[in-house]
Amino acid sequence: MKPDLVIVGGGIIGLYSAYLLTQRGINITLIDRSDFGQESSWAAGGILTPLLPWNYNKEVLSLTATSSEDYYNLSKHLFPLTNIDIEYWKCGLTVLDNCNDTIKRWCNSHKLAYQRISSLHKTHFHLPDIAQVRMPNVIKALIKYLQQNNVTLINNTSVHSCQFAGQQVTTINTSIGDIQTNSVLWASGAWLPRLANSTNFIRTPLITPIQGQIIAIQTVPGLLNHIIYKDGHYLIPRKDGLIIAGSTLEDVGYNKHITDSARNILWQNSLSMLPELNDYEITHQWAGLRPGSPANIPTIGPHPDIKGLYLNCGHFRYGVAMAPKSAYIISGWILDNGDSLSTQDRSYASSNFT
Ligand SMILES: Cc1cc2nc3c(=O)[nH]c(=O)nc-3n(C[C@H](O)[C@H](O)[C@H](O)COP(=O)(O)OP(=O)(O)OC[C@H]3O[C@@H](n4cnc5c(N)ncnc54)[C@H](O)[C@@H]3O)c2cc1C
Repeated sequence: MKPDLVIVGGGIIGLYSAYLLTQRGINITLIDRSDFGQESSWAAGGILTPLLPWNYNKEVLSLTATSSEDYYNLSKHLFPLTNIDIEYWKCGLTVLDNCNDTIKRWCNSHKLAYQRISSLHKTHFHLPDIAQVRMPNVIKALIKYLQQNNVTLINNTSVHSCQFAGQQVTTINTSIGDIQTNSVLWASGAWLPRLANSTNFIRTPLITPIQGQIIAIQTVPGLLNHIIYKDGHYLIPRKDGLIIAGSTLEDVGYNKHITDSARNILWQNSLSMLPELNDYEITHQWAGLRPGSPANIPTIGPHPDIKGLYLNCGHFRYGVAMAPKSAYIISGWILDNGDSLSTQDRSYASSNFT
């Protein structure tokens, strides 16, 4: 059967978009060139807010505003159906920095709770409502749900390009042959420019791969019970005692190699935030390629020149947190041409076109 929609890319953006659209009766084929969710989305820490949200523009804040609530609802929806716990945890975030008046005013005007705490560290403050999820579990749960709901999942298959008749999408060319469809959603993360180049159309959003490395330290449950942030680095605790320490921001092209220098920087920063880590060892190190975009603002909407081609890409540092709202917006475009969307939501359609 000809699918109503082909989604190219099964990271969190493609998976979440499929999750919403299949509930609206859309017949979807989801394609990934490797296994689903193994790229940036797997590498992510899973924090559900921009780090230090007062530093961000309204476009980023609008896309992340309901993230915590959305993932809480996702966990409640998926656990009984899949038996997979996405480990939603409102663990809070402690910032090892001064909570100055500007930040206090920002928190008050955005209704973000904060507390001043004086204990182990000199001056710091705590944001108790910041939450996290465990990304490998989110990915597994979404895939299982999509399988249960008859979404066609095709892995280990590259999409090479799209074909058009006039300005209308008709076909996508893949490594296992052509698929006829009139609607395609590109959710291919940092690789979107490659897909755009091989499709050879004129305008494409500006997206650059930006590598992020992370180390993980297996400690004991309870050693750390909230996220810590200091000087651009963070520690994220998991309930089983694993602590994730991130992350680097490196402009090294499509390179996912891990390095000793990143490992050392992340380790030294981790020790400065939590000296108790000295009793433990680094157990994992990995890298992912973020889909970098100017000011962290993604492109979400129909392509301006090609009918039937939709984009949900360029989520840079906050694609996990932005995924539910981004999926809601792209669903609005696909289902009713954006009529139900707010002006702010519609504005993402034109972000970052060169
Ligand atoms: C170290 C690190 C930490 C992070 N921490 C956080 C965090 O705490 N919170 C947060 O909100 N965000 C975080 N992020 C950012 C977040 O991971 C990304 O914004 C998000 O994962 C982007 O999702 P995506 O689905 O667009 O991309 P991806 O997850 O990269 O998925 C794109 C998919 O498309 C597939 N694909 C590409 N080209 C093709 C093709 N031609 N044919 C078929 N398939 C194709 C790829 O195989 C891949 O599976 C972090 C990122 C990194 C690297």
